[in-house]
Amino acid sequence: MIKTIIKTVFYLCMLSASILQAQTEQNFTVFIDPGHGGKDPGNMHNGYVEKKITLAIALKLGKLLAKEEGITVHYSRKDDRSVNLYARGPMANRVGADVFVSIHCDAHTSSAYGAGTFVLGLHRADKNLAVAQRENAAMYQEDNYQSNYQGLTNVIGLSAIQEENLDQSIKLAAYVQQEMVATAKRRDRLVKQAGFVVLYETIMPSILVETGFLSNANEGEFLNSDKGQESIAKAMANAILKYRDEFAMNSLMIGPAPGKEVFSVQLFATDKTHSSTASVFKGLKPVWYEEKDGLKRYFYGEATSQASANDLKIRAVQKGFKDAFVVKKMR
Ligand SMILES: [Zn+2]
Repeated sequence: MIKTIIKTVFYLCMLSASILQAQTEQNFTVFIDPGHGGKDPGNMHNGYVEKKITLAIALKLGKLLAKEEGITVHYSRKDDRSVNLYARGPMANRVGADVFVSIHCDAHTSSAYGAGTFVLGLHRADKNLAVAQRENAAMYQEDNYQSNYQGLTNVIGLSAIQEENLDQSIKLAAYVQQEMVATAKRRDRLVKQAGFVVLYETIMPSILVETGFLSNANEGEFLNSDKGQESIAKAMANAILKYRDEFAMNSLMIGPAPGKEVFSVQLFATDKTHSSTASVFKGLKPVWYEEKDGLKRYFYGEATSQASANDLKIRAVQKGFKDAFVVKKMR
């Protein structure tokens, strides 16, 4: 139901768009959430302060991503300030983020070390619950936390939207873990599920990365160093780009809203599934598809007139889709 409403609002926005907007290339938007900040320092061990390290990694990650064509970066904070946990997800929703990445550092009484990535879910293991409780603890310091977190303080279930996004969240988390091992040379603490308040309000694939343990003297030193932060940021950037290129599906792929007539440009037909950001589309956005008898027909753009659609077709041909043609769609 919620998804339907969101889609409907989305389509209304799309349909009111002029041809100029239809030609605007759509970005892949990354929302970066440096954990803690301001009056909430996060965990502190060996003289290392979580909120400072998460911010440093976040800014380095954002810088790497912003260099890439077609990527927009937003942050929950870019300096040392307090941002309520419940406000962070809605900030990402408002900017239409494609992914939400929350950055943290872990701590433990043992000499544990390594990086792990969490997606929202039930606490399957007590260990995961402990991490979630530690990261959720910040909400108790916030004003009005009782009304803001009604029902969230115990077990956190999945919203319908998060349920839909779970596969993609897990895929993104898996890429992050691969990169944490390959690029940042961290011990693999795997992809896990737990009830993180900060992930609860988001409507896009979302992960929380525990980049390492400040309580481990060696890892703390690594995370606190410029070089260490650089390599963690590089690992996360690689994972996000891989996700965008290979997996990201966005709602534009669904096509025009029912009952509306639009003109669009058919690019090609195939039995293969491509993400809307796949290189096969040569940067054309928005793209979408229709499936019939196992064959997917991929389209580019939506226009309200034949003339406007012809402009789109010219652009598609220039990009190398020599056989592209205009179609009138009514659904
Ligand atoms: Zn944290």
